[in-house]
Amino acid sequence: MTGKKIVILGTGGTIAGTASAAQDNIGYTAAQVGINELLGSIAALEKLPLVAEQVAQIDSKDMGLDTWGRLALRCRHWLAQADVAGIVITHGTDTLEETAFFLQSVLAPAKPVVLTCAMRPATAVTPDGPQNVLDAVAVASAAGARGVVVVCAGTIHAAADVAKQHTYRLNAFSSGDAGPVGYVEEGQPRLSRNWPEAGPGLPVRTLQAMTTATQWPRVEIVMSHAGANGRVVEALLAQGVDGLVVAATGNGTLHHELEAALVKAQGAGVKVLRATRCAQGRVIARPDDTLASAGALSPVKARIALMLELFAAAA
Ligand code: ASP
Repeated sequence: MTGKKIVILGTGGTIAGTASAAQDNIGYTAAQVGINELLGSIAALEKLPLVAEQVAQIDSKDMGLDTWGRLALRCRHWLAQADVAGIVITHGTDTLEETAFFLQSVLAPAKPVVLTCAMRPATAVTPDGPQNVLDAVAVASAAGARGVVVVCAGTIHAAADVAKQHTYRLNAFSSGDAGPVGYVEEGQPRLSRNWPEAGPGLPVRTLQAMTTATQWPRVEIVMSHAGANGRVVEALLAQGVDGLVVAATGNGTLHHELEAALVKAQGAGVKVLRATRCAQGRVIARPDDTLASAGALSPVKARIALMLELFAAAA
């Protein structure tokens, strides 16, 4: 611990969820407990220099660009304070990896921004949220920590690699082939690789423009599967779409009918990226590819990367 402040930004999720019966771990309502109440229930945090702010109170399945924009601006504000060591964000698990990837993309912070969560509501017989928060605070306070990471079930994941891989287990997240950044053991981070890279991030005025933008580039995800065809792409083109990410099979392969529609869309000026629907691995690009590869980005992260690229191009 550095003695500096840790800022906790609450956004809702299961970690702030309540159920009418303590043994019910799935029939709860997310985002019910305020961040101050949540922190107040964790006795081990009592003596720490914490500042808490409620940025949102939502089930993260409903996460949106407006909340991301506000969150990025609050992070930028607090990270600029010399007496702040790092930030912890309490968040639902459903879109946690998307928020983490967005924040790393726009902030690339030199201080730690640690997203944490829970798979069980606050009212559970043994909720996992309090330990996750304690671990997240330990990571946010650790000397040398940087970048946007996720802490869940004693494991530290980089924003670029993390993905929710289980619907129910407490250790719902995986970093796939890359492996986790490390682990938290009795309040001590033990690293297995480097923290995410820090960089300048986007200027505040760009973050503000994102937050107030009435319209973001529209990027949709389509999937290649047995029996796929091009009609969904044609329907999207008819509605107006700026970018398409295709969740391709295997190493970026596509049903030939869907591929034909995507190539046509690209010819009409729509940016297309091929990600893989496989949980592990990357789309290995070839020099003669017609449709660009999203590399190791999952479809949901490729969508964010493409939206940011198109937003920057339009600015
Ligand atoms: N639906 C919840 C959310 O993402 C799930 C969770 O937090 O585990 O907010």
